[in-house]
Order: sequence, then C-alpha cells, then structure tokens
Amino acid sequence: MSKKNHGSLIILSGPSGAGKGTIHNELLKHDSNLKLSVSMTTRKPRDGEVEGVDYFFVTEEEFKKEIENNSFLEYAEVHGNYYGTLKREVERDIDNGYDVLLEIDIQGAINIKAQKEDGIFIFVMPPSMKELKNRLVKRGTETKDALIERFKNAYKEVNEMSKYNYVVINDELDLAVKKVEAILIAERCRVDRIEEFDVNNQEELIHELLVDFNN
Ligand code: 5GP
Repeated sequence: MSKKNHGSLIILSGPSGAGKGTIHNELLKHDSNLKLSVSMTTRKPRDGEVEGVDYFFVTEEEFKKEIENNSFLEYAEVHGNYYGTLKREVERDIDNGYDVLLEIDIQGAINIKAQKEDGIFIFVMPPSMKELKNRLVKRGTETKDALIERFKNAYKEVNEMSKYNYVVINDELDLAVKKVEAILIAERCRVDRIEEFDVNNQEELIHELLVDFNN
C-alpha cells in the first residue's frame, strides 16, 4: 500500500501565547515527514529570530510586490502587520510528499479552507484567558500597545474555534504535543488519504503461495 504521493496541509492556529510555536517545534523534532512553511512578514524580528527560519522579514513595499506577483497562497493583516504563506514554500514540500505545517491566524485558515478543504485544521487553546494573559506578559516580547491588541484579538479568535476540525488545550505542553501527534497519526490513516493499494497481483501471489506451500 502506498501513501498519497502528495503531502497534506496542517493548519495550526490559536491566540498569541497559546503555545503554537512551542508545539510546532516539538512536532518537528519528532516527525521527519513534517515540514514547516516559513511565512513572510512585515513585522520586525524579535531578539533571537532568524531570517528564513522564523520568517522572511521584509518591508511593506517588498510584501506588496509579492502580492502583485501572486506569490501568496494566503496573506492577512494580523495585529497591524502583514503575514503571508508563500506558495513556493508550500508547494516544494507538498510535491515531495511531506506534510506541511502552517502556523497562521484565523483569517489565513479560513482562506486556506476555501482552497484546500482536505487540510487538517487544528486550533490551540490556552487553558484559560487569565493564563493566556499571564503567559503573554511573561513572554515579554511585545510593547504595551501590541500586547493589548494581541489580547483583544485572542478573544475574537477563540470565538472562531468551531471553524477548525480539532481543538487542543495547551495546559501541559507534553500532553498537548501528544494530542497533536495523535491527530496527525489518525489523519494519515484515513481511507481518503490512501491513494493506491495494489490489487492487480492476485495471480502472481497465488502462484507464489503455491510454490511456498509446496516447499
Ligand atoms: P507573531 O507575530 O506572534 O509571530 O505572529 C502573529 C500571528 O500571525 C500569529 O497568530 C501567527 O499564527 C500569524 N501568522 C504567522 N504567519 C502567518 C501567515 O503566513 N499568514 C497568516 N494569515 N497568519 C500568519
């Protein structure tokens, strides 16, 4: 039995501070069939972020040029910056049979769903909004205004969770990672993801069976 020779798209969304980044890093460590699509953004790099690994960091002008060139599978304005999934990032790995993980916001997820309804849509939730607030403050990566914007957006995003196929509450990281891994294992076993099953070899195998039996 062979797998579909095209990989699947896995869409991971959730409010800022829910832990999507940490979850996807853990998934990528253990799943060699999974690749992360690196998005393009106009957001300034945070300390420690690496060009081409975390994002492709560009100016608004460069981003708009990519929009004109039809380079994006989807793009959106999130928390006051542009973010987009590059077609070339996704297609290269999907065509090579890898499953591709997109860590994108709800607008992007809705956009992808309209194009690729067989995507696997997973929403990561914080255990509570209070815990989300605590994590965002502790992370210390945003200015006060950006923090408030992200926290307000979190409420909107949580209200959209029913658009996803799966919800994973990230209370304990190890458990949340296991849940996402379990989702991927189950999805890869779905009948509609299996393309070929060789049933044209009956005579050949019966011949072999008789030879084996007679030995
Ligand atoms: P951050 O600035 O924290 O890295 O990301 C902010 C938000 O933008 C997150 O919700 C993240 O999932 C989302 N995001 C990152 N890349 C993309 C993308 O390519 N498209 C869309 N629509 N959202 C993205």
